[in-house]
Amino acid sequence: MFLEKLTNITHTLAFRLTLWYTMIFIMSSLGAFALLYLSISNAIDKNMDEHLLAELKEVSTLSQMQGMDGIKSLSYAETESEGVEKVFCRLVDLRGKELFSTNMSSWGDIGVGRNALNQLANGVDHVFETLSVPGRTYETRIIYGLVGPDMILQMGESFEDGVIFLGLLRKICLIVMFPLTFFSAFIGWFMARHALMGVHELTETALEISKGALDKRVRVKGGGYEIKRLASVFNLMLEHIKTLLKSMRDVTDNIAHDLKTPVTRIRGIAESHLGTGGTADASFDFAADTVEECDYVLQMINTMLDISEIEAGVHKIDKKKINMTEIIQKAVELFRPLAAEKGVTIIAKVPDSAVMYGVLNSLQRMIVNLLENAVKYTPPDGTVTISFNNDDKNWAVLSIQDTGIGISPEDLPNIFKRLYRCDISRSKPGFGLGLSLAMAIARAHGGDITASSQPGKGSTFTITLPR
Ligand code: ADP
Repeated sequence: MFLEKLTNITHTLAFRLTLWYTMIFIMSSLGAFALLYLSISNAIDKNMDEHLLAELKEVSTLSQMQGMDGIKSLSYAETESEGVEKVFCRLVDLRGKELFSTNMSSWGDIGVGRNALNQLANGVDHVFETLSVPGRTYETRIIYGLVGPDMILQMGESFEDGVIFLGLLRKICLIVMFPLTFFSAFIGWFMARHALMGVHELTETALEISKGALDKRVRVKGGGYEIKRLASVFNLMLEHIKTLLKSMRDVTDNIAHDLKTPVTRIRGIAESHLGTGGTADASFDFAADTVEECDYVLQMINTMLDISEIEAGVHKIDKKKINMTEIIQKAVELFRPLAAEKGVTIIAKVPDSAVMYGVLNSLQRMIVNLLENAVKYTPPDGTVTISFNNDDKNWAVLSIQDTGIGISPEDLPNIFKRLYRCDISRSKPGFGLGLSLAMAIARAHGGDITASSQPGKGSTFTITLPR
């Protein structure tokens, strides 16, 4: 159980971020410490060389002024102040023979470097050497230099102080690093948790939504810009889903409602047929009525399928060169007899030829649907005007205007929804699918349809299509 919990934590983003943060902290701290350590160690070495060189120069000056006595007194003073186990001074001639030395009891049988003597004999001002003296823990830095004619000073100093100081520095660093690492891990964990708080809330909300609470929304407050944006996009998506579900429910309700009428009618016909006792004439009428009702239902279902296919892009748009003038004129000719019968005048304002690219059948269907509506919803003595304008370089505009019953402002935003019918037009035949199909076709062509209307005065449908 505990192991499982631990594994779960190690898989979290917060844990990984903390790990990265701590590792980066340790690496950069170690890097900074190494740099500091190296520069201090270099400074100690440099300081020791400078000190030895200054002593050499002082001995050389004293030797010129006071001879051997001056050298001796300075050497004793130096070893006394530093300690005989840390510093020694020795005077030798050019062959390496000892002339004088301070207390050498701590320095074993440390000799005189032949190489250094040769270099000095060849005119080099001074020579440095680092020696590991057997029996001594720390290395020794030695300087050789001429302090008089045939007089060479060999002065050695132990690295002890420097090495002890560097060791202490390493210890301090280790002692400081431990609590600092824990502190940085804690800060990293806190920061990661804080930054991911929004994600946690998002997950919780998604979980509640998955259980059916579709009205839940993520609170857009804490966290950084990215989390806030994620939360608002998530909320936006939920709004879309909710709208989509509502429109799906509306469509299902409408389908159920619209199918109920023909099915009830078919049932009524069958029932009255049963009542007639099954004569040949009654059977014929029954069959004819049933076929008519079934056609109605089938037409509705087929139109819905067509809309879905066009919207889903199943009918890959296979655009061809078409003449819109011809299509419009044919549609007008189709409806002229019906319009004339109703006393409605159709006026077509089209250019002599209007060539553009599109799918012939689809565009024909779209124009027929809109023209059919205009004629259907325009009372006698009214006028329907269809005009086409392709003056613009990029867009062609088709407009169908009528002086019909119009559409109320409440209905106007809904007329392109599937199966939506305004109450005022329920007495007329129709499925409430004509405008949805027209819109799907216009959009599949990269265009759009807008409608404007004044109840009682008429409506205008404007279709914009890319040329
Ligand atoms: P329908 O088969 O009912 O005509 P549509 O999808 O073509 O279905 O139209 C949806 C609704 O929009 C219609 O029921 C009608 O109320 C309204 N409508 C469409 N065109 C017009 C118009 N030219 N004038 C008035 N109302 C219209």
